[in-house]
Amino acid sequence: TAASGGGLVAYADSAAESAPEPSQNAPKKKVLVLGTGWAGTSFLKNLDCSQYEVKVISPRNYFAFTPLLPSVTCGTVEPRSIIEPIRRMFEKKSKDVTFYEAECFKIDASKKTVHCRSAVGTNLDGNGDFMLDYDYLVVALGATVNTFNTPGVLEHCDFLKEVEDAQKIRRSVIDCFEKASLPNISEEEKRKTLHFVVIGGGPTGVEFAAELHDFLVEDLVKLYPAIQEFVKITIIQSGEHILNMFDERIAAFAEEKFQRDGIEVATGFRVVRVSDDLITMKSKSVGEEVSVPYGMAVWSAGIGTRPVIMDFMQQIGQTNRRALATNEWLRVRECEGVYGYAIGDCATVSQRKIMDDISMVFKMADKDNSGTLTLKEIYDVLEDICLRYPQVELYMKSMHMLDIADLIKGAIGDAHKESMVVNIEEFKKALSHVDSQVKSAPATAQVASQQGNYLAECFNKMDKCKEQPEGPLRMTGGSGRHFFRPFRYKHLGQFAPLGGEQAAAELPGDWVSMGHSTQWLWYSVYASKQVSWRTRVLVVSDWTRRFVFGRDSSR
Ligand code: FAD
Ligand code: MG
Ligand code: MG
Ligand code: MG
Ligand code: MG
Repeated sequence: TAASGGGLVAYADSAAESAPEPSQNAPKKKVLVLGTGWAGTSFLKNLDCSQYEVKVISPRNYFAFTPLLPSVTCGTVEPRSIIEPIRRMFEKKSKDVTFYEAECFKIDASKKTVHCRSAVGTNLDGNGDFMLDYDYLVVALGATVNTFNTPGVLEHCDFLKEVEDAQKIRRSVIDCFEKASLPNISEEEKRKTLHFVVIGGGPTGVEFAAELHDFLVEDLVKLYPAIQEFVKITIIQSGEHILNMFDERIAAFAEEKFQRDGIEVATGFRVVRVSDDLITMKSKSVGEEVSVPYGMAVWSAGIGTRPVIMDFMQQIGQTNRRALATNEWLRVRECEGVYGYAIGDCATVSQRKIMDDISMVFKMADKDNSGTLTLKEIYDVLEDICLRYPQVELYMKSMHMLDIADLIKGAIGDAHKESMVVNIEEFKKALSHVDSQVKSAPATAQVASQQGNYLAECFNKMDKCKEQPEGPLRMTGGSGRHFFRPFRYKHLGQFAPLGGEQAAAELPGDWVSMGHSTQWLWYSVYASKQVSWRTRVLVVSDWTRRFVFGRDSSR
């Protein structure tokens, strides 16, 4: 599709359809939200619910503060402290928001309905199934664990995704200690039972390993002195380093700290099979297989697609994908006439390539129709281009270019800056590598909640921009329409707690901070990020209790 005129830059996807006209007397549009995790709740919190008839579906009637899940595995924080009941969260909006505790098992895109199943309804009428229709669908279903079809993983490994998982891990850890303390257990058996293996060296796996190590050295060794020498923790990571999404300095700091702590980090190994007492892994470099006995294994090696999302993608022709592709305004792609939006871990923004629109961009910049662009013509549209195609800005930054003039000069040679003019071929050449900078946002709570916020803002203003609900970005050409900027993720930094009251953090502006003070920063940031005063008080008092009395080691 081509640009619909007027605007400076093509909004090929969004211009294709327009929202239904809201009118004074018409019934409120139905918004159906699937999921009450980070994305779903941040959408609901920021949505002006009085404009819509809002329904929410989730099999769990609470929101879970996932960044503190690793702390729940060892009793540093109690499970109740990190969850907030959905009905309480939206108490003030309860007139406009209806919550159903049920699982959505099918989205019917063509009929604009969603099929749900309630776990508790089953006994009442033989089945707890029901159907809901919508005008706008907000898919915020999150992701599942990904075993990469590794044999034995589902049967033998623990996972760390939900609150129940964390509670189960806590029980399993204590079970291993009690089991190893029983009489008539051989040394070999003790060693095996007390071998804790974490598969996956990402932030979750690393934080869990650190948390477990603290639990061992601060609490359990005092309670189980006879078996402390048999305890071992191993992290298996397929890449060269753990925490490879962080700055290298952080990865190095973490690896060093773990080495001092006696946590074994096996990098360059891929787990190929898990049986009830052996984990088999293959060295990526030598190709040789090794098997190690273990007592407990936690799999945290990646995220996968929920079956209901898979099925939805099939219906709309998005195949061979891991997540639902949306446009930059978070609307599901290839979903014309079906007002579907997707946010959080179940979705990924597919950024439009500038090379696909290059002739049009050129034409629009060329205000005087001369067939060439002067530097001024380019500067005039640069801001819009960078908004629509953020990769342009990223590319210039990555090449240490201060100015688009550098980029152009690279393509047409060392021309004199002021009198520089480019034709379409040169313009294409200058921008030809820019699209390589397109990258998708990570699957984090930070991204999910920013997307929820952004989408709620779009919904709140939808009335004012009937023509294009999530349409072009700004008032261009004096058309007087209120347009939205595309969603842009703002990275506010990321923490990696490493145990022993130490943490590492990557902060905006390439700042890296590590050590004890960073742990205190972590405490304060995570306390402030709690969704309610109630959970904040609970979390802080859990931390205090742990400092004073240690962790609870009963199962
Ligand atoms: P979720 O928060 O997973 O929400 C999905 C929602 O959908 C849930 O309410 C679920 O109950 C519901 N649902 C599931 N299936 C169905 C169904 N069939 N029908 C209806 N509803 C359904 N991110 C960070 O930024 N920082 C961190 O420190 C951090 N630490 C983490 C630690 C752990 C242990 C884990 C597991 C994740 C961590 N994350 C962190 C990642 C973060 O939790 C996710 O990126 C975030 O939860 C994604 O939000 P979401 O709303 O897309 O999905
Ligand atoms: Mg959600
Ligand atoms: Mg969540
Ligand atoms: Mg995502
Ligand atoms: Mg010109």
